[in-house]
Amino acid sequence: MNEYDSSRLAESLAVSHGYRETDAPENADLLLLNTCSVREKAQEKVFSLLGRWRPWKVNNPNLVIGVGGCVASQEGDVILKKAPFVDFVFGPQTYHRVSEMLDDAISARSQSVDITFPEIEKFDCLPPRRVEGPRAFVSIMEGCSKYCSFCVVPYTRGEEYSRPFDSVITEIYELAEQGVREVTLLGQNVNAYRTTDHMNQELDFATLLRYISQIDGIGRIRYTTSHPLEFTDGLARAHRELESLARHVHLPVQSGSNKILTKMKRRYTRESYLEIIANLRNHCPEVSITSDFIVGFPGESEEDFQATMDLIDEVQFDQSFSFLYSKRPGTPAAQLSDDASIEEKKDRLHRLQGKLNAYAANVSNAMVQSDQTVLVEGPSKRSNGQLCGRTENNRVVNFDGSLDWIGKFIDLRITETMTNSLRGVAVATHIKDSQTARIG
Ligand code: SAM
Repeated sequence: MNEYDSSRLAESLAVSHGYRETDAPENADLLLLNTCSVREKAQEKVFSLLGRWRPWKVNNPNLVIGVGGCVASQEGDVILKKAPFVDFVFGPQTYHRVSEMLDDAISARSQSVDITFPEIEKFDCLPPRRVEGPRAFVSIMEGCSKYCSFCVVPYTRGEEYSRPFDSVITEIYELAEQGVREVTLLGQNVNAYRTTDHMNQELDFATLLRYISQIDGIGRIRYTTSHPLEFTDGLARAHRELESLARHVHLPVQSGSNKILTKMKRRYTRESYLEIIANLRNHCPEVSITSDFIVGFPGESEEDFQATMDLIDEVQFDQSFSFLYSKRPGTPAAQLSDDASIEEKKDRLHRLQGKLNAYAANVSNAMVQSDQTVLVEGPSKRSNGQLCGRTENNRVVNFDGSLDWIGKFIDLRITETMTNSLRGVAVATHIKDSQTARIG
């Protein structure tokens, strides 16, 4: 989400002020820091990075510094007190106002803070997308109203709201015209997307996917992050019926213990989560399922942790994310008593990651000698002279090929697994130009 916000901000400043991105921040005229506060570590980095920027401002008083994102949203003008050399502070819902804040900083040398939540306004104010490459993110809903007890997002990004249908479809249509072939739909709970169509009929996430799959040029659709509570049968069916919808679902479970899920206020049980997975696999047996886990939530016993380990064995998740619980100020879980030691929690995380990695390695190994469709993204970052692309289950594959394959879907035979990627050889070039047809 932050990557998407940053790229929209960069596009907007290119149009309003002609700014270009640089790889040499020490020589920049404008430095913007887009922050994350989901876990403490990310939050801590903010002031250490600002400390490194400070001498640059001393040497160049014309340098403008802005701080945005969720830490900005939480701390507001405290940032200006702690780091007085910062010129302006903006939140995740006000980055479309940065060009005005920038003008004030340049002309009046005045500091400003705008961390309000003007619903949806930003999408009406941002210029049309200008992207390079065949993949793009598209934010379709913002904020979160789930209020999980550990999570800071509802307080930093505001309540859940969905972008209008037309606005989403127009953005994707324009991206396809610029050569984008894969879109990743974004939202804190992306499958909570709900709006009305031209006839004032309710339109949900699964229906939105059906419309997007009709857009010429869009050969692959991904989405993240979905919430189990909103995972409808219609969405499970879409994975079977829409060829361009990647057969990959990232569905955070957080814990396999009902006691912990209740304390987390997740509003589903281990059993209802397993029912969703069973239904999804029933509709689409080859779907890859990945998840998020929080280890060491307050009150988690060894027995609760074992319930999570058993759930991993039961579902056999593919590549997943796992985190040590991080106490976030202002969240209900921050008040809960927590008696497990940090050593115990780290040991649990280590065991859990060992299990997750083993299942992910099984999936990679089973892919060897199979044929996989990848979207060719460009030259490989690691293997000199090779190209790279991603499989439906989100694995990077490096392979020999020609530069004019970039932006096309091709079939590869997987030949080898590496630590973080796969190797493959091209079998045939496919140009996917509709949801049902693949033309060789
Ligand atoms: N909205 C999605 C959901 O809750 O299903 C996930 C979005 S959240 C930005 C990404 C992941 O960060 C969560 O799934 C959770 O595993 C992790 N996370 C959020 N708050 C956390 C905290 N306080 N400590 C550790 N991990 C956390």
